Amino acid sequence: MSFKIDLAYIRNTIFKMIPPEAGVTRLEFEGPEIAIYVRNPRFLIEQGGIVGQLAKAIKKRIVIRTDPSVRRSKEETIEFIMSVLPPDVRKDAEIVFDDVLGEVVIKVKNPQRLGEIAKKILVETGWRPRLVRAPPMKSRIYEEIMAGYLAESEYRLKFLRELGESIHRDVLLAKNSNNYVRVTFLGAAQEVGRSAILVETAESRILLDFGLNPGRALNPNAFPRLDLINIEPEDIDAVIVTHAHLDHCGLVPYLFKYGYRGPVYATEATRDLMVLLLKDFLEIAEREGHDPPFTMKDVEKMLLHTIALKYNVVTDIAPDIRLTFYNAGHILGSAIVHLHIGNGFYNIVYTGDFKFARTRLLERADYSFPRVDALIMESTYGATTQPSREEAEKQLISIIKRTIERGGKVLIPTLSVGRAQEIMLVIANAINNRELPEVTVYIEGMIHEVTAIHTAYPELLSKPLRQALYSGENPFEHKCFHRVEGKEPRTEIVETGEPCIIIATSGMLTGGPAVEYFKLMAPNPKNSLIFVSYQVEGTLGRKIKDGLREVTFVGSNGKIQVIKVNMEVYSVEGFSGHSDKNQLLDYLRMITPKPSKIFLVHGEPNAINSLKNSIMSLSRRGKLGLRPGTEIIVPKILDSHTLAFNL
Ligand code: ZN
Repeated sequence: MSFKIDLAYIRNTIFKMIPPEAGVTRLEFEGPEIAIYVRNPRFLIEQGGIVGQLAKAIKKRIVIRTDPSVRRSKEETIEFIMSVLPPDVRKDAEIVFDDVLGEVVIKVKNPQRLGEIAKKILVETGWRPRLVRAPPMKSRIYEEIMAGYLAESEYRLKFLRELGESIHRDVLLAKNSNNYVRVTFLGAAQEVGRSAILVETAESRILLDFGLNPGRALNPNAFPRLDLINIEPEDIDAVIVTHAHLDHCGLVPYLFKYGYRGPVYATEATRDLMVLLLKDFLEIAEREGHDPPFTMKDVEKMLLHTIALKYNVVTDIAPDIRLTFYNAGHILGSAIVHLHIGNGFYNIVYTGDFKFARTRLLERADYSFPRVDALIMESTYGATTQPSREEAEKQLISIIKRTIERGGKVLIPTLSVGRAQEIMLVIANAINNRELPEVTVYIEGMIHEVTAIHTAYPELLSKPLRQALYSGENPFEHKCFHRVEGKEPRTEIVETGEPCIIIATSGMLTGGPAVEYFKLMAPNPKNSLIFVSYQVEGTLGRKIKDGLREVTFVGSNGKIQVIKVNMEVYSVEGFSGHSDKNQLLDYLRMITPKPSKIFLVHGEPNAINSLKNSIMSLSRRGKLGLRPGTEIIVPKILDSHTLAFNL
């Protein structure tokens, strides 16, 4: 059977299964979905299940849209919506219309409760409701992205229709009898940074991640080397972003700068965090006088071309490729990529960065897939084991407790995404359990904005956190947290008042408010500095961790300031968002079904080699349950591997 998508078959099936009373007026592609325009949505909605059956029959995602002629006036529509929303939801609902798509955007606190009401609104008003969550904490980026999409709705629709045509184009070569799959490692091969993998078939070219190397200056070695294999950005059919860290997505706007106009697939949370982190990257570059490789315009273009996907939903992204995202447990929105190529021809799982253990913030990574032939796995901690979460939390709490009891203050420098939220939850929990006294926790830097984005996507969070947010309780708004805005209050926080905790960026003291607090707090021996993340060689954080006790700063006025480090310095391991060595090996033990090829990427050479040796020796003793003859491959940069061919 060929994988060719038969458009005539789709059309016939739709017309056969949809009752004529529904009044279908036209069918359109919208990116990976098929939009069915009808005059009378009642016949589809009230005969529950028909849309689902249809989607199953044609193996497509379907969206029901209404013919403009049947849409009621906006005034009537608002009135109707208000009359059906429950009173507690109604009181702060926001309603906006998208004339291009015929959608009414309804922003409410708990959209997950309103499924049945949404159907009613579509049937009665002819406007298709799009339920959007109003997060309990206001996020500027989230609001801007929503408003941006609304303002550019016409451009978006045109892009989605053209993309739909190209995804559903007639397959030229790639029948099962005539296909191949090849992967080329453009970055993150025996290194950490600039993740980028090119997947090619007879029909398509897909990029998995396109990151930069944040540790290096902005020279070509910080970039994935698309140029060296003679591929132009416009030759790419799709870009898939696993998560918002810059070493995975940092150069996607650069593709747009040089002519890429295709889709970027990511989860909604990744999309929001990606825009926030890219914006921050450009602001820092400007402040430090660097010439960034792209501008905010390119970031905006990227956003307009981004298609947000949920976990566990199969999506056509090319005539011969289906993409499914799975939870990766690394940061909010992080995804493991599953590619189904051809009709059962080949299957690739790419982990991106992943955590194979539960954290307070996220569930552990998914390990069960419909099919797996090749597994491409990160190996960051391939050589190291980390203490358990419980031990890490205990250690953190006891250092904080000791510091507070002697009247000192605690500085915890963190990354803004993930680690900060995790530490906030640990502290709030310890206060609730009376393991810590009621102490004020000051939050500064981008952390607040990132935390707000977390509250917009409770469905992506760990079960306890999700349930808390659904029930209207927000642990991130625990009474201990105080947000600091502007520079003025810093001296006051440090020099006066009660013992307290300060959580600030950046995590390695390379800049940001954490450094300013450090300068103020370091001389006092009662205070503590606690690192909760890896300190990269060369950073101030690493130097202090390694014992530096006198730090020289040059002020903006050229004045030299020498700071004595009398505060206590600690490093608590175990909060990493990556799987440690045991968790990586556990993942191979658990993954189902078992791959026949395993590629180890995203790790320093010693980490990858150590992991490879452990896999080989455990595997020889039958401890991982891998199939006999499973290949373990450590690709070098620019290596290409043909995974399957049938030519
Ligand atoms: Zn990452």
